[in-house]
Amino acid sequence: MPTHLIWFRTDLRLHDNLALAAACRDSKANVIALFISTPQQWHQHNMAPRQAAFMQTHLQALQSGLAEKGIPLLFREVPDFTATVNELARFCAEQNVTHLFYNYQYEINERQRDARVEKTLNEVVCQGFDDSVMLPPGSVMTGNHQMYKVFTPFKNAYLKRLKEGLPECVRAPAVREGKDVTAEAITLGYPQQAFDQEYFPADEKSALARLRHFCQQQAAEYEQQRDFPAIEGTSRLSACLALGVLSPRQCLHRLLAECPDTLEGGAGAVWLNELIWREFYRHLMTYHPELCRHKPFITWTDKVQWRNDPHALKAWQEGNTGYPIVDAAMRQLNETGWMHNRLRMIVASFLVKDLLIDWREGERYFISQLIDGDLAANNGGWQWAASTGTDAAPYFRIFNPTTQGEKFDKEGEFIRRWLPELKTVPGKAIHSPWEWAQKEGIELNYPRPIVDHKQARLKTLAAYEAARIA
Ligand code: FAD
Repeated sequence: MPTHLIWFRTDLRLHDNLALAAACRDSKANVIALFISTPQQWHQHNMAPRQAAFMQTHLQALQSGLAEKGIPLLFREVPDFTATVNELARFCAEQNVTHLFYNYQYEINERQRDARVEKTLNEVVCQGFDDSVMLPPGSVMTGNHQMYKVFTPFKNAYLKRLKEGLPECVRAPAVREGKDVTAEAITLGYPQQAFDQEYFPADEKSALARLRHFCQQQAAEYEQQRDFPAIEGTSRLSACLALGVLSPRQCLHRLLAECPDTLEGGAGAVWLNELIWREFYRHLMTYHPELCRHKPFITWTDKVQWRNDPHALKAWQEGNTGYPIVDAAMRQLNETGWMHNRLRMIVASFLVKDLLIDWREGERYFISQLIDGDLAANNGGWQWAASTGTDAAPYFRIFNPTTQGEKFDKEGEFIRRWLPELKTVPGKAIHSPWEWAQKEGIELNYPRPIVDHKQARLKTLAAYEAARIA
């Protein structure tokens, strides 16, 4: 009898899991599942303890779900990806594995690991799947078979492909006969920090329920609401998508069920646009693996003379810059592991273009805190904000952190939620609290702005100009 092994990584779900469905297709095969923890590797990748807790919670839920299907999820811990290859070879020999099924990861270390696995397991039939995307990298290319460098033409080509035929979702596996499954304990061996289960679903069923609720109640209003952090106007499904608790195909089908005109630009189209940004960065990383090594897409930007200012970096990280919208956002990140997209853009712009600190410092800090940390999206977001990436904001576009606050948190509701020390500052004065405090003769328990935006802007423009002509 063949033994099929499904190796779970960032695809922690039963439904619409391409590798799992393929592993279970032969009803006579013995199917087992495995997850390998790699704490040392995760340390190197700076994985956030909140993401580790989210992963562990979902692995345990997945283990119960698989057990109900008669599939045991076994667990191993090794230091890193190199040791993973040997451990997997040992495991396959021990369990007489004949076929290995797994879903691709597109990051460079992961791809190199998988290539070594396939080479080492030469007796085992290995099959990989493009599961974490709607359309596989390489399937949306320019007429010259190049990867698009600009989002809008990529999106147009992408929508055309979707209109030609939607990627199907596959069912969860059926219950397998005659298997009595005993659970193996899962503890990742990595530091963990609790996450709020009200905001981040703790099992697949709750994730699907949140997706359904968002598509039914909020997707149509997303365009009007998505930029205002005081409103719950976005789906908050990023952590689920990053660890594969949901698939983007499930998102697409649920969206189309509730908003049938999405592909024609009707209600829901703006949310689909965000899912396509996610795909764009994944496809891009596959064709430009140097992005995983934190190289800028626009090479001249590597010549920008960044400032080495640990004090300012720390103030930014801790939410003590004296710019309320920046500080409230950073406190949201530090306390919850998540930050609203508009705020990610504002704080990234502030770090790079007000403090003139290397965008890679911000990229690293984000990954160390985010429950939805995802190399492609995070790198894409940082390179966009720093004007170093493909289709990035031009370098002379510099957000003013005060007017961004005035525009997107007009009444200061979000700021007051995260900066209790500013609760007494009235109305719109919240965006420049020191100006108000000085007029009132009040001393605030809140830092004064660590930079003057106007001057910082000029210095940054000069630094980018100098790099461009160097
Ligand atoms: P929604 O607005 O509901 O969007 C739906 C889904 O689309 C998201 O869950 C996400 O998977 C995807 N998505 C949305 N916007 C983007 C985008 N701009 N780029 C890529 N995918 C997107 N997203 C991550 O998932 N992980 C990260 O590590 C990450 N780092 C970022 C860093 C910076 C500097 C910036 C500017 C953006 C980053 N993003 C990242 C993208 C975006 O901010 C988050 O995906 C979004 O805020 C998650 O909230 P949501 O689930 O409510 O999103």
